[in-house]
Amino acid sequence: MCGQPCMRCGEQCPGFRMHGWRKICVHCKCVREEHVVRSVPGQLERMMLKLVSDFQRHSISDDDSGCASEEYAWVPPGIKPEQVYQYFSCIPEEKVPFVNSPGERYRIKQLLHQLPAHDSEPQYCNSLGEEEKKELRLFSQQRKRENLGRGIVRLFPVTMTGAICQQCGRQICGGDIAVFASRAGHGSCWHPQCFQCGSCNELLVDLIYFYQDGHIYCGRHHAERIKPRCQACDEIIFADECTEAEGRHWHMKHFCCFECETVLGGQRYIMRESRPYCCHCYESLYAEYCDACGEHIGIDQGQMTYEGQHWHASEECFSCACCRLPLLGRPFLPRRGLIFCSRSCSLGEDPDNSDSCDSALQSKPVSHKTIQNPQHSSTPRPQGGSSVTVTSKVNTCRTAVKAASTTTASFPLESKGTNVTMHYYIYLAFLWWFTHMHYFLIKIQGIYIT
Ligand SMILES: [Zn+2]
Ligand SMILES: [Zn+2]
Ligand SMILES: [Zn+2]
Ligand SMILES: [Zn+2]
Ligand SMILES: [Zn+2]
Ligand SMILES: [Zn+2]
Ligand SMILES: [Zn+2]
Ligand SMILES: [Zn+2]
Repeated sequence: MCGQPCMRCGEQCPGFRMHGWRKICVHCKCVREEHVVRSVPGQLERMMLKLVSDFQRHSISDDDSGCASEEYAWVPPGIKPEQVYQYFSCIPEEKVPFVNSPGERYRIKQLLHQLPAHDSEPQYCNSLGEEEKKELRLFSQQRKRENLGRGIVRLFPVTMTGAICQQCGRQICGGDIAVFASRAGHGSCWHPQCFQCGSCNELLVDLIYFYQDGHIYCGRHHAERIKPRCQACDEIIFADECTEAEGRHWHMKHFCCFECETVLGGQRYIMRESRPYCCHCYESLYAEYCDACGEHIGIDQGQMTYEGQHWHASEECFSCACCRLPLLGRPFLPRRGLIFCSRSCSLGEDPDNSDSCDSALQSKPVSHKTIQNPQHSSTPRPQGGSSVTVTSKVNTCRTAVKAASTTTASFPLESKGTNVTMHYYIYLAFLWWFTHMHYFLIKIQGIYIT
């Protein structure tokens, strides 16, 4: 499998070549779905056929699978040609799978993304032990038996008063085309464009859904509600232990530098776009230079960031360009790529014989001035440095620990038993609370000046 161009990177990628175990392109690091796939790959075709046949075995309906017409790569099964047209007229045009159209490529991309072959068949996984293979089979069988379904497209009977769409809450009238999902109960129906995954909000590819606790999901996101997924190899984690960082999970051996693949368990690392890097690679790839002194800003040094500019978070470097007043923890005025303590300094006036400087600051709410900036340090600290980001418009200062140590999590659930699953939801709720609380605390530390 080589050569398919990347839709995201264009010329930058010479063509898709699979990484040894990450399931991304070694050239551009994008996932395979981003690379043009003109036909459903054989591996996926086989997996899909198996999924559909497994589904039919468990299915209560006697529906046949969607056979393609000449015009479309796929059509909903069991409906008349004019209803096929009515169904597709509800779907955004760029998502209608006309043969050789962007809609067909969208369908293939979604098949690859929503129904990962490695979620159901051990042979598509990289290095599962015998025990893990057994668990994957059980996991996959259980989901097919208890959650998997295929939406059925039907004309809503004209004789009936209509129903409410499960997604948008709006009316579906007699004579409208609607999607029914037997797992969700017999009255449940959706507008064709509303039959989406409750997690990624994408149309459920080929109407294949997984039903859980009142919601429908794509295969990928349903699996992730039950088990953690490794951020590096994209496989479901069946091992008892995994590495957890920032609410995401990795196989222990897969928590390694995205660049040099040094294993980072117990080591310091820096996360960038949800990918961990060793300090060495991070510095050589993403080094920032201080706008004041021109020196490199080390990962252990505090950093101020504002609209793409960077400074050492030190009194000398982050100071007024006119009078050198240190600006850490103070409101500042950015102008023409420089920062100033006041309007008068920004206009190049002598700060000593002007009171406009004071009046400019006094007109600001006092409460904002009393809030302290986070601590900054230019000396290395054992837990790593702080990065202070000042975002545009409202100049909010926030601290984020860039380098940190990993934690090892014993994942608190098995594939069976609702009690353990409950723990997982409580755990998720806690994670949500923790991240949002953290964000909230950061926000109230904001200082702004207009
Ligand atoms: Zn790419
Ligand atoms: Zn590529
Ligand atoms: Zn709807
Ligand atoms: Zn989804
Ligand atoms: Zn992994
Ligand atoms: Zn590295
Ligand atoms: Zn500097
Ligand atoms: Zn000044």
